[in-house]
Amino acid sequence: MFPLILVHAGLGSRLEPEAVQVIRSLLEEGSRRLRTGTSALETSWYLVERMEESGLFNAGKGAIPQEDGIVRRDVGTMEGTTLKSLGIPAIVNVSCPSRILPDLFRNTKHVLLSGESVSRWTRSRHLSDLPVDPAFPQESLSYWNAPKESTGTGTVGAVVRDQEGRHAATTSTGGAGKMRPGRIGDSAIPGAGYYADDRIGAVSMTGEGESILKTIAGYRLLSLSDSAPSREHAAREGPLFLEEILGRTGGRAGGILISRKNGPFIFHSPAPMLAGVWSAREDLFEITDTWNEAGRRILEATT
Ligand code: ASP
Repeated sequence: MFPLILVHAGLGSRLEPEAVQVIRSLLEEGSRRLRTGTSALETSWYLVERMEESGLFNAGKGAIPQEDGIVRRDVGTMEGTTLKSLGIPAIVNVSCPSRILPDLFRNTKHVLLSGESVSRWTRSRHLSDLPVDPAFPQESLSYWNAPKESTGTGTVGAVVRDQEGRHAATTSTGGAGKMRPGRIGDSAIPGAGYYADDRIGAVSMTGEGESILKTIAGYRLLSLSDSAPSREHAAREGPLFLEEILGRTGGRAGGILISRKNGPFIFHSPAPMLAGVWSAREDLFEITDTWNEAGRRILEATT
């Protein structure tokens, strides 16, 4: 099995030059790291942290505030060999949540840790770069008072397979739309916003978190893609599943995934979704926001 990287910048994100440049450079660096033996898990943290740091997406430095003006970030990560995973919802005192993952992941057996205990931990490890009890700036509140065409897009995520055939997934977000204070989305919850299991692969989701949670969309999308009898079947069933979510819950969703058996996929509801792929087999990079012929070609080339 050859190494693979897929990243996304959230349902609704587009091929804009600055974002494309960030994604291209992180795919280049991510692929270099995988070639020199960095694990899938560490590579996924690196990729997501770079997107958080860019401030271009609704995650990390670019995360949107909730209705009370406070930015609460959700992050989740999982590695597929041991099924070890960690989700942290509602982080307030760290601007780039992926930065705290390596330390916390190695020091807990828990699968979900709440914001408050994380705040204390990050402060004690000098990883916190924002006030714990944020005296939030007025601009954060005015964010919701200003008329808006879009309520914010650009959750970020990465799925990676390394040289040893290990899989990992990491997802990070500021949430979706106008959120009641304390709202937690899918991105911190394993099986919903992310999942990894070396027996079937890895997935990172984006879209309306409530719909993704209600349908446990991450695990189900990965599982149906991997259990499909062929790549062609999986390519048909993925979009049908997203249509079913839309029909039953009214929410749009998208995901990037590596199926162990059927290869990489980019699936999304009818909306753009900026995504990038690197495959070690052909040393091929591709960045797309549409599930179009170009997207299909790269994904076919990598299977
Ligand atoms: N899934 C994220 C959430 O609901 C938002 C997104 O992906 O756009 O928190």
